[in-house]
Amino acid sequence: MAQQKPHINLVTIGHVDHGKSTLVGRLLYEHGEIPAHIIEEYRKQAEEKGKATFEFAWVMDRYKEERERGVTIDLAHRKFETDKYYFTIIDAPGHRDFVKNMITGASQADAAVLVVSARDGEGVMAQTREHAFLAKTLGVQQLIAVVNKMDATQPPYSQKRFEEVKQQIEKLLTPIGYRNVPIIPISGYKGDNITKPSENLKWWNGPTLLQALDNLKVPEKPIDKPLRLPVQDVYSITGIGTVPVGRVETGVLKVGDKVVFQPADKQGEVKSIEMHHEPLQQAEPGDNVGFNVRGIAKNDIKRGDVCGHVTSPPTVVRAFTAQIVVLNHPSAIAVGYKPVFHVHTAQVACRFEQIIKTVNPKDGTTLKENPDYIKTGDIAVVKIVPDRPFVIEKVSDIPQLGRFAIRDMGQTVAAGQCIDVEAK
Ligand code: GDP
Repeated sequence: MAQQKPHINLVTIGHVDHGKSTLVGRLLYEHGEIPAHIIEEYRKQAEEKGKATFEFAWVMDRYKEERERGVTIDLAHRKFETDKYYFTIIDAPGHRDFVKNMITGASQADAAVLVVSARDGEGVMAQTREHAFLAKTLGVQQLIAVVNKMDATQPPYSQKRFEEVKQQIEKLLTPIGYRNVPIIPISGYKGDNITKPSENLKWWNGPTLLQALDNLKVPEKPIDKPLRLPVQDVYSITGIGTVPVGRVETGVLKVGDKVVFQPADKQGEVKSIEMHHEPLQQAEPGDNVGFNVRGIAKNDIKRGDVCGHVTSPPTVVRAFTAQIVVLNHPSAIAVGYKPVFHVHTAQVACRFEQIIKTVNPKDGTTLKENPDYIKTGDIAVVKIVPDRPFVIEKVSDIPQLGRFAIRDMGQTVAAGQCIDVEAK
């Protein structure tokens, strides 16, 4: 079998209107991924309007108009391929639900492109900060920053303005913990320095965006960590027995392993593993598997339980300390607030027991000890008590099991990570 290229899930983040969707459109367009009939349709429209040349900018303007009218155009599944990788672009239109998907594993991004507009008066803004912080909180390992709209600086393609915005970006990213991030001047609208070097940016001798994407590191598989496999579903299959289904987050699951499900506290032995209807001897991080466990009945375990080895079982907590960022709460969060926490495949009502402090996103220092309440935009350290014990891990131990979204009344109100646990 031919060696498969590694796959990278990419997400675009940044302040609204700084050019994320334009950039995605441009990338897909330059890769020939926008369906021919859509381009043809736009070409016709351009001619009718008496436009002499057909430009991508025109395509994107139409695309944006149609989006605003609620017409969605499926940009060929938003996939493209480079010499080294297959990329899937995870769009974040419904930002809040994107956060939930990121945490529950539906769409974990391996890398993010942070889009910052260079237009005068723009640069690093509120959502630029929020998104960069979120990306880190959600475990996005690698980041590329683009200084966009270089065509719209004064004067156009100003190296001086690029350097200014670059400094703002460095000041933002270093305290958050992103190091050695490539910062690249581009224009998504005009197509400068996306897949090929631009005449307009002669002073730039760094990579194009495409080169930077190819320079990303192959995402690491956390096979050296303890096994953690959150259960999505449990089946009982005639002639086989109890078959939990889920994705291996960390570690390796092998046939013959002695495993335990927590907090159900049920043990058994792995008799067989299957992925895409093929038997496997072992499953690794990222693999979605069903596996037959002897010694466990279907009703012993359920969605939200986590499977690990009996020698290093999942951590069951009765309380934990977390760092959270409040994304969207209509008023204020005070002690006693009890929303639903979405952690891996578990959903648990949890109470805010204590608001320990608010944190300055710029440098991580304490803003206020024991504040009465926190509100949208705040980053805080809080103590949380779940209604019933469940599995969560410290991010410093097993980051994949340490992140959560907080939902209330159908919305993601906050996201966070577990920094300490009181084990049961
Ligand atoms: P998003 O909200 O971040 O997805 O931003 P959009 O892609 O919708 O772009 C917002 C506005 O900025 C639109 O009017 C775009 O045409 C414009 N825009 C995006 N990229 C560029 C760029 O590189 N140069 C210029 N001059 N305008 C851009």
